[in-house]
Amino acid sequence: MKDYAYEVWDNCLKIIKDNIHYQSYKTWFVPIKPLKLKDHILTIQVPSQFFYEWLEEHYINLLKKTIKKELGPEGRLEYSIIMDNSFNNTNPYSIKVPTANKKALGNPPVQMPIDINKGASKDIPNPFVIPGLKKIKVNSQLVDSYSFENFIEGDCNRLARSAGYAVSENPGKTSFNPLLIYSDVGLGKTHLAHAIGIQAKNNFPDKTVLYVTTEQFIAQYIDSVRNNNQNDFVHFYQMIDVLIMDDIQFLSGKEKTQDVFFHIFNQLHQNYKQIILTSDKPPVEMKGLEPRLLSRFKWGLAADLQQPDLETRIAILQKTLYNDGIEMPEEVIEYIAYNVNTNVRELEGALISILAQSSLNKKAITLELAKKMIDKFVKNTAREISIDYIQKIVCDYFDLTLDTINSKTRKREIVQARQLSMYFAKKHTKASLATIGLHCGNKDHATVLHACRTINNLVETDKQFRIYVEELDKKIKM
Ligand code: ADP
Ligand code: MG
Repeated sequence: MKDYAYEVWDNCLKIIKDNIHYQSYKTWFVPIKPLKLKDHILTIQVPSQFFYEWLEEHYINLLKKTIKKELGPEGRLEYSIIMDNSFNNTNPYSIKVPTANKKALGNPPVQMPIDINKGASKDIPNPFVIPGLKKIKVNSQLVDSYSFENFIEGDCNRLARSAGYAVSENPGKTSFNPLLIYSDVGLGKTHLAHAIGIQAKNNFPDKTVLYVTTEQFIAQYIDSVRNNNQNDFVHFYQMIDVLIMDDIQFLSGKEKTQDVFFHIFNQLHQNYKQIILTSDKPPVEMKGLEPRLLSRFKWGLAADLQQPDLETRIAILQKTLYNDGIEMPEEVIEYIAYNVNTNVRELEGALISILAQSSLNKKAITLELAKKMIDKFVKNTAREISIDYIQKIVCDYFDLTLDTINSKTRKREIVQARQLSMYFAKKHTKASLATIGLHCGNKDHATVLHACRTINNLVETDKQFRIYVEELDKKIKM
């Protein structure tokens, strides 16, 4: 029976793969396991409640059609969700969730219990509050410009962004509690964390939202110890409805602070208050944190932010320019986006230095100026050649557009341009074959391998071709 389930699900996957973006396929469908098939009902196992909700929200129609196609009009789908919501729970327990059945649509039956009477704020004197005010007034410390509106969406941040948005619509009442956002520096953790806070505040003006950096939290705690008012410190934090704590990796090694944070965390969590954390690493890689704290970080959802792709980088630059009311030639924007691919902070840094140069020297913003500035900028930050950049050079060289070389066409010169991009990407970047394939027309690793072999053969046998390759190589390294 199980084998049959596998077979059917495999067929479904083939259809699904053809209908959605590869990245989405990888994120949302590859982790699914078919469990059984009985009476036209296929049961699939999904890793979390969030996963299930996401599938229902975004892929219900596709799933429905696919299932009917494979199993006939009777066909139905049931989910089995691995619940990872409790400490030390090694046995995932399953819940049957019917779908492809109108009643269940958009109405997830697995609900978190919600007690609305809990967690009402009490009048507790504390030093963090302006005295004399009845209702606690807390300075949220939110930065207006770090809004959702200014946060460009891309494949690199889709999961974290949507989870964040969901949290702001329903703080404390989704299964993403805590919501942990992690990434390397400069990829938007702080921005996204603020955005969630701002949106939650807009949606629920009566809720107390607080953004705090972990350094601030530690300093406040140390102060409270010094002033002997630790209880007030704890009470203050326990009154927050949406607590955002940025860069929790700084808790590492601070045992006392971890202790007190542990208690605050528990109290908030029990009372269905929302906790949003950011960190430079996923929980499994965090060092110097107590296991009991780490285990709690895994209760909700950990979502990462990746390096933005070229399109997203261009969109971010355009948004920044638009917000500042500055115009800049398209080619300059593209040049910056092609060449600065480390992180968003550096992208913005490069933009600012070009703007500064142009206004200091009263020079127009031209490609020349951008090239000069970027060269300096990129040298300072040890530029890495990117796949995007290679594709750009290859396209310019053969006078093709990016869309053409990544399209499905089998025209010889276009296939060759694509193969050259793959070959140079293999040569000059550390990207895996799979990643290169993904960037170059959504091909698999075997195609990339084949491309590299083909180019190597041609270089050895065709003199004219070798000259092309050498010229291109020079341009790429320039
Ligand atoms: P982190 O906290 O991960 O180090 P930040 O949130 O400080 O990163 O982001 C660095 C800069 O990049 C900020 O100015 C932020 O506004 C900007 N930024 C990051 N991601 C995006 C995005 N997706 N859209 C727009 N701006 C972004
Ligand atoms: Mg930050």
